Amino acid sequence: MLQETPLRSVAAGVPGEGKRPHGARPLFFISDLHLNEAIPHTVAAFEHFIRITAEEADSVFILGDLFEYWIGDDMLSDPFVARMATLMHTLSERGIALYIMHGNRDFLLGKRFMKMAGAIWLPDPFVITAFGTRIALAHGDALCTADRGYQLFRLFARNRFAQMLFLAWPFRWRRKLAENMRSNSEHGRMRPISIKYDVTPKAVAALFNASKAATIIHGHTHLPARHREPGGTRWVLPDWDLDHGGHRGGYLRIDAEGIRALPLD
Ligand code: MN
Repeated sequence: MLQETPLRSVAAGVPGEGKRPHGARPLFFISDLHLNEAIPHTVAAFEHFIRITAEEADSVFILGDLFEYWIGDDMLSDPFVARMATLMHTLSERGIALYIMHGNRDFLLGKRFMKMAGAIWLPDPFVITAFGTRIALAHGDALCTADRGYQLFRLFARNRFAQMLFLAWPFRWRRKLAENMRSNSEHGRMRPISIKYDVTPKAVAALFNASKAATIIHGHTHLPARHREPGGTRWVLPDWDLDHGGHRGGYLRIDAEGIRALPLD
């Protein structure tokens, strides 16, 4: 389902509610940080991004998999998680809008989290108009349609009733299940993550069509690139990993000049 609702910032051409005028300030896009306590350098890079890099932004969009896993908003009682939410809340305090889309790992991020982070939740996919251009945003997992098993899981996992049942479990059961899924899956504890399935041309064409956008931005595949597709341009966001010997990461910046992929400071 493609949804489109007015954003409160320049992304929709609507005068901002923030403390600063939303003139030609850029929009920033990130995804796939997979934050957790075990990756302190990646966490530090995120803190720098929010405190320093984002300072000039009109809005920050996080297109999924901000956290390694999310098993319910009662995770907010964890000091690390609370610290991340408080950090993100400084954006709205500084007049910078924060939009968060669910990923395949943190699709249970709920209202309590969004409130604590000062964030507005975006459905997947979602269309914005930025600087006069329509842009379709997605996490990207729904575009990997060759992975039938995963798509079946996704259908189940996004079912509200199934989610209600899961969230009613004791916290330690949920954590156990999440940890089992992490260690069983090919992109569990082993990093760098390899994801077997890329997006399919058919799913990409369908999204270009449904959104009437000539630009798509998504993450998930950990294959950062700018693709020329029959339907338009497809930007793939980089995943972040500064804890396994490399320096992966970066963000997309959109302003009146266009879209640019930038490395971390
Ligand atoms: Mn993902």
